[in-house]
Amino acid sequence: MIMSKSMKIKTPRELPPVNEVMCEEKLVTALQIHGHAMVLRAVRNALSEAREALLITSDDPATSTISYSMDDLVNKTLDQLELWSTPLIRHVINATGAILHSNLGRAPLAPSAAEAAYNAGRAYSTLEYNLEEGTRGERTAAVEILLKRLTSVESALVVNNNAAAVLLILATIARGREVVVSRGELVEIGGSFRIPEIMEESGATLREVGTTNKTHPEDYIRAIGDETAAILKVNRSNFRMEGFTEEVDLDKLATIAHQYGLPLIYDLGSGCLSRTLYNRICEEPLVLDASASGADIICFSGDKLLGGPQAGIIIGRRRYIEVMRRHPLLRAFRCDKMTLAALEATLLLYFNPQRAHKEIPLLAMALADEDMLENRSISFVNALNEADVPASLLNESSIIGCGSAPGCKLVTPVVAIDPTCAPERFTPDELLSQLRKERPVVIARAGHERVLLDLRTVFPEEEDALLQRLLSILV
Ligand SMILES: *Cc1c(COP(=O)(O)O)cnc(C)c1O
Repeated sequence: MIMSKSMKIKTPRELPPVNEVMCEEKLVTALQIHGHAMVLRAVRNALSEAREALLITSDDPATSTISYSMDDLVNKTLDQLELWSTPLIRHVINATGAILHSNLGRAPLAPSAAEAAYNAGRAYSTLEYNLEEGTRGERTAAVEILLKRLTSVESALVVNNNAAAVLLILATIARGREVVVSRGELVEIGGSFRIPEIMEESGATLREVGTTNKTHPEDYIRAIGDETAAILKVNRSNFRMEGFTEEVDLDKLATIAHQYGLPLIYDLGSGCLSRTLYNRICEEPLVLDASASGADIICFSGDKLLGGPQAGIIIGRRRYIEVMRRHPLLRAFRCDKMTLAALEATLLLYFNPQRAHKEIPLLAMALADEDMLENRSISFVNALNEADVPASLLNESSIIGCGSAPGCKLVTPVVAIDPTCAPERFTPDELLSQLRKERPVVIARAGHERVLLDLRTVFPEEEDALLQRLLSILV
């Protein structure tokens, strides 16, 4: 039986065979785009969904309201194909005001870094090729030269992320031996990075000293023995301890370590390379200061305060880093070419701080001029008001995010929308949910019974799309 396109099917028995749907004219383009196997799967899916729906009502086809035409089946197939072929990693407009958002991909890349990653990805590159000699080269040589130049250290090494960096350092320096660390620094860091667990994996034994709020130089000295391989200092980046606290300065700790012939390892976490940013947030140590203070091995993330791609950067004394370079774990932790290209381009920007502050999004957002932010927000409020959407400015604050500079609040005027009185009414939570539904996806936050949009983390070129999204929902 060849069915006509508009004929309504009311029982499972009347459903057409798969190959009949496959021959439909409207699926020709889909076949070219998605290939035979995918279209076949989608057709089967559409037929089986239709069969199930019809089975439920097929007892009495005369009164059933459910029916399918051939067009319905084809459209179902096309919708399914669209869904299957849409990438799940989507562009998001981040209106939360958290500059490094753990769930939204941490630091966005500078345009030159994104382009470098793109170019490295789409063609061959000199990743491991020495052009002068025409021989094999070192994969991370380029970024290591830049890191040495920027931080004046003897040696540098790059791995996949900072957690891998800590693991590689401990496995190389302290496997089977003890590492002395202050109890106040045994923290869990976003994404369940726990120093005691990393230590266990590395084969090093944790030797905790001091109490949660106080650690004195003598605590470290008393713990040092024949089994000690190193002293570890961990930057408590995701919380601040205030009040009755005491910790040992980095200088002092380095002196103690060197008196006993031990290396001082410093897990810096965020890795701030910009003095201007450092002066602004006043909380996270500067990489330069850390390396000047006598720590022998320092590690930090590439995608926190540095504003580059995900990476774990290790800098410090050559004699320790050269051993890490030969450790088998390095092969397991090595970075991808796109990461290295993006990191190289990001580091290159740091040689001209003015360019870095403008082009690295993390720096541009954290250092954004308050008047400029206010002007952007006022224009946005006006545009909403013109469409009868109640909105006003509210003084709030943005955060660095990702556990970096936890006490730092960046004063920001935010756009506060009252969606309960807009032409189309929604509660704040409903509006937030609507904003998550379509493209471009917008993530914002609720507060003061309003939806708050922090333009600090919205790229100026995203602003219009954000406005149009809001108007399409609320008006
Ligand atoms: C964030 C952080 C880590 C983990 O770094 P990743 O790059 O996320 O692997 C380790 N140590 C400290 C102190 C951190 O702040």
